[in-house]
Amino acid sequence: LTFLGIESSCDDTAAAVVRADGTILASVVAGQTALHADFGGVVPEIAARAHAEKLDLCVEDALKQAGVALRDLDGIAVTAGPGLIGGVMAGVMLAKGLAAGSGLPLVGVNHLAGHALTPRLTDGVAYPYLMLLVSGGHCQFLEVRGPQAFQRLGGTIDDAPGEAFDKVAKLLGLPQPGGPSVEAAAALGDPRRFAFPRPLLDRPGCDLSFSGLKTAVLRQRDDLAAAQGGLHEQDRRDICAGFQTAVAAVLAEKTRRALAQTQAPVLAVAGGVAANQTLRTALQDVATAAGADFLAPPLRLCTDNAAMIAWVGIEAYAAGQRDGMDLAARPRWPLDQSAAPMLGAGK
Ligand code: ATP
Ligand code: FE
Repeated sequence: LTFLGIESSCDDTAAAVVRADGTILASVVAGQTALHADFGGVVPEIAARAHAEKLDLCVEDALKQAGVALRDLDGIAVTAGPGLIGGVMAGVMLAKGLAAGSGLPLVGVNHLAGHALTPRLTDGVAYPYLMLLVSGGHCQFLEVRGPQAFQRLGGTIDDAPGEAFDKVAKLLGLPQPGGPSVEAAAALGDPRRFAFPRPLLDRPGCDLSFSGLKTAVLRQRDDLAAAQGGLHEQDRRDICAGFQTAVAAVLAEKTRRALAQTQAPVLAVAGGVAANQTLRTALQDVATAAGADFLAPPLRLCTDNAAMIAWVGIEAYAAGQRDGMDLAARPRWPLDQSAAPMLGAGK
């Protein structure tokens, strides 16, 4: 099987061509960072317009790079949610048009399932496994039992960790995106100088919280500024190191619990925050202690892309999913909810 994948649920417009043996024939990702830079966040209207303008070209590019024509394919997979509705609709509309014009089957995919099944695309990991999804918009533990079977074990009750990294960078006057700049500063800092909280560790279960950490950073910054009239370079580094250590410690402990609860043989991560080396090391240690393998796909497949969408399309198609011209774009679509077209089967 060879599938075209289309992704437009946030601020990346992407198209990819993927084979059932895991070969990625093409994966095109066009970001929109520059378009939103002046607004301090993704503007839904601008995102939807840009997707509508760029999707055609992305698909064309992907097919050209893969050296295939539409008629060589076996199906078209498209992100049908969750995400910014204008962008999702632009992708779904294009996919329907292509499917109607070519006669190829259409498969609507959950964006989160894309992240969750990425370890199968990259490493052929067997079910079941534990997935920690940590990005700018999400933070959750999923036990992945099959292409249509997900169990959510817990997640953030407020900010996502990537969001916390970005806000901390902003508080300290470091460049965006905050993750890489905070990590770079932290590498030169002393993680023991400031004691930041470890939110929710005292509570059982796998839920997380990051907004209190961000507030603690704000307070520390203001205390230092009041005492010495501003922040020294080394203060920034030490705050970053303390913050990053706290994030990694909390995620590691909750991961330990999730592994103990599920007895999963493999721990996999996805999302932009999975690029963080301190976090990776902490998670690797937790997995080793639990006797589980640790797996972190390459970063370009950890962040938003269409190869993961094509892959879920292939697995869902093989499991019998077909969607019609009534495929809906969904702003919200929890992975473990039975209302989902591909995920409800068997519940
Ligand atoms: P989603 O896809 O869940 O809607 P998103 O598009 O914001 O959210 P990603 O593109 O997966 O998420 O990841 C971007 C986030 O990852 C940003 O918040 C960024 O700061 C963070 N990030 C990137 N590199 C690092 C790093 N080295 N350490 C920590 N965080 C990082
Ligand atoms: Fe994503």
